Amino acid sequence: MTAEIISIGSELTTGAKLDTNSQWLSRELAAAGISVGFHTTVADDLDTNVDAIATAVNRADVVLITGGLGPTRDDLTREAIAKMLNAPLELHEPSLEFIRSLFARFKREMPQRNQVQAMFPRGTEPIPNLRGTAPGIWAEIPRDNGRSDCLLAAMPGVPSEMYEMFFSQVRPNLQERIGGARFIRSARVNCFGPGESQAEQWLGDLTARGRDPEIGITVSKATITLRITAHGRSGEECELKIQDSKSLIYERMGTAVFGEEDDELQHILIKILTERGQTLATAESGTGGLLAHNLTEVAGFESAYLGGIIAPTSRAKTELLDVDADCLRTHDTVSAEVAEAMAEGCRNHFGSDFALAVTECPPYDPDRKKDGDNDVPTAHIALAGPDGTVSRKLNLGGDPGIVKARIAKATMNLLRLSLMDALND
Ligand code: AMP
Ligand code: MG
Repeated sequence: MTAEIISIGSELTTGAKLDTNSQWLSRELAAAGISVGFHTTVADDLDTNVDAIATAVNRADVVLITGGLGPTRDDLTREAIAKMLNAPLELHEPSLEFIRSLFARFKREMPQRNQVQAMFPRGTEPIPNLRGTAPGIWAEIPRDNGRSDCLLAAMPGVPSEMYEMFFSQVRPNLQERIGGARFIRSARVNCFGPGESQAEQWLGDLTARGRDPEIGITVSKATITLRITAHGRSGEECELKIQDSKSLIYERMGTAVFGEEDDELQHILIKILTERGQTLATAESGTGGLLAHNLTEVAGFESAYLGGIIAPTSRAKTELLDVDADCLRTHDTVSAEVAEAMAEGCRNHFGSDFALAVTECPPYDPDRKKDGDNDVPTAHIALAGPDGTVSRKLNLGGDPGIVKARIAKATMNLLRLSLMDALND
């Protein structure tokens, strides 16, 4: 059972407006146990619409269309459905009466143009609209080769009208025709450390297409999210399948897993530190306060995060973090020694259990040579704690747009792994 959503409107294909209806409908269909295989967006053009609808009816069992049901010349959905079905448009008197009565209620005469909204392709049915003038269109379209009818619903583009029509009429219709309750549930497991292909290798057969539950990998600013999607005859059946898959993911990804759903590394760090009654402070150069920004976004951060210092210059490092001037003279500003001295100075300054530090990261140079290790920008990060100080060198090849986010995450991850006793020296 596959569904296709078709959004119609030149305001969408030109980019003037964002197609939010498809996103909303996809989520609602998933909640109703129907997976969506296609999103199609088309301009207000008759032939294109006919083409898109014919393609959808052929490849999907449920087709939901939004937009193009208005009274104006650019609204072509009813005409496109009629042309695709090779059926004439016929007047539906009760719908015309309803539209007239709406105008009468506002003491206005119905413009002739609105009559078109009461026209339906022969063999289809109107879907009443409780929020506006344009009724929707319901069709059950026979297909060859013994396939089940394609269920098609055309709804208004105005989101509030579409939501109402979907909930009150389209969804119940679909459930009645498809029969038997179906459920889809999904969950997310978040990891940091390995790259996308490394993660896929560790997960092995778990990411095979067609597996139930299906496990997909997405990456956002170096955080890897594994999305588990389970199908079943009840919510509980889906949840059980998800739990099984989660156990396998935890087993294979090990300490790379840091959280679930909307968890970010900062939420986990603040939670662990608060539980242990320990505190953290930060000293940043290259990330310019991003670490502090992330940590202060967590509700209740005050119980664990004492504060941060931004020290992008040598003067700031000596005056605010008490980094030895000799250390700065002898070592590169991007070095393990400077990172460690910053972390130790920060820990002393705040009197915290732990301090995290980030050195400069060289600004991205788009002209840099691609070959040679020396050309990959680097940063050093350090953690000072009750058991001493450790540091790491980060190689920052890859997308320059996410470098700072990646450094901030790697720095928080250093402390997370240390708190889990999972740091490999
Ligand atoms: P229509 O039903 O085509 O007359 O669309 C009426 C209005 O609904 C448009 O002007 C848009 O503002 C809005 N609209 C139409 N389609 C969408 C969509 N896919 N996502 C969000 N808004 C939409
Ligand atoms: Mg339109």
